Amino acid sequence: MATLLKGAQAAAAMNERTAARAAALTARGIVPTLAVVRMGAREDDLSYERGVINRCAKVGVAVKPYLLEADASQAQLLAVVEEINQDPGIHGCLIFRPLPAQVDDKAVRAALAPEKDVDGITDASLAGVFTGSGVGYPPCTAQACVEILDFYGIPLEGKRVTVVGRSLVVGKPAAMLLDRKNATVTICNSRTRNLPEICRQADVLVVAMGKRGAIGGDCLAPGQTVVDVGIHTDENGKLCGDVRFAEAEPVVAAITPVPGGVGAMTTSVLAAHVVEAAYFSEEK
Ligand code: NAP
Repeated sequence: MATLLKGAQAAAAMNERTAARAAALTARGIVPTLAVVRMGAREDDLSYERGVINRCAKVGVAVKPYLLEADASQAQLLAVVEEINQDPGIHGCLIFRPLPAQVDDKAVRAALAPEKDVDGITDASLAGVFTGSGVGYPPCTAQACVEILDFYGIPLEGKRVTVVGRSLVVGKPAAMLLDRKNATVTICNSRTRNLPEICRQADVLVVAMGKRGAIGGDCLAPGQTVVDVGIHTDENGKLCGDVRFAEAEPVVAAITPVPGGVGAMTTSVLAAHVVEAAYFSEEK
C-alpha cells in the first residue's frame, strides 16, 4: 500500500510560515494584498477563487477582486492590469486564464509587472525559473509539486525524475524546479515514444498530461513516488487525476491523491508568493 502524500499536510506547514511572515508585515502597517482579476464567471474560476480567498484569509493576505464582463475588451483588461501595476498597496496579481477569445493572452502576460506576478505567468518569471535568478515566482502548481516532495522528504538529488507534460503552467517549470534539486529529469510530451517504459524507469513520476486516467499499471513500478497533477471529474461526478489511482496505489511507494494532493497545496504557494512580494516591495 502506497503512502499518501497529502497536500493539506504539506500546506499546513507552509501556511504557518506564511501567516507568521504576513503578521510581521501587517504589524508594520503593510497588509500583503493580492489582486484577483476575473473575466466572466466560469465555474472553474469561481471555484479556484473561493479557494484563494479562503486560503488568503487564513494566512493574513487581503484579496482585492477586479471583475470584468466576459465580453470586456482587451483594452479594458489591460487598463485594469496597469492600475494594479501602479498601485503600491497591491503586491501580487492573479489573472484567471484561459482568457476569452477577444483578449490576447500574450499581451496581458507582457503587461503585468514581473514583481507582482505571483502566479508565474510572465516571461520574466519563467526566465527566473530557468535561470534561478530569483526574479518573479514559479507557477504555483509546478512549485506545489516540489513542495510536497520536499515536505515528505522524497529524495531528488541524483534520482531519475520523469515529468509527463510540458506546458508552461505545470510540466516545464516543474521539470526546471526538479532539475534545480539535482534530479535527472526527463520531460515527455504527446509525441514521446515508449511512454510506459520511460515512466517505469523513473524514481519519481510527475504526471501533468491533462488526460483522465491516462497513466495506469503499465507505466508504474514498485518503489516509485507519483505526483498526479491532473484534475478531472469521472462519470460519477467524482474528482480524479491523470493516474488510475486504483492501479497505482497497490504498486508504488507513495502517491498524491486526487483530490487532496497537489490541488490542496496550490493556493498555499500563491499566498506565500504574495507575502514574499510584499517584503520585496518594502525592500525596494
Ligand atoms: P496542458 O496544457 O493540456 O498540457 C498537457 C501536456 O501533456 C502537454 O505538454 C502534452 O504534450 C502532454 N501530453 C498529452 N498527451 C500526452 C501523452 N499521450 N504522452 C505524453 N504527454 C502527453 O495541461 P496543463 O495545463 O499542464 O495541466 C495538466 C493537468 O493538470 C490538467 O489535468 C489540469 O487540470 C491539471 N492542473 C491542476 C492544477 C492543480 O492545482 N492541481 C493546476 C493546473 C492544472 P504536447 O505539448 O505535445 O501537447
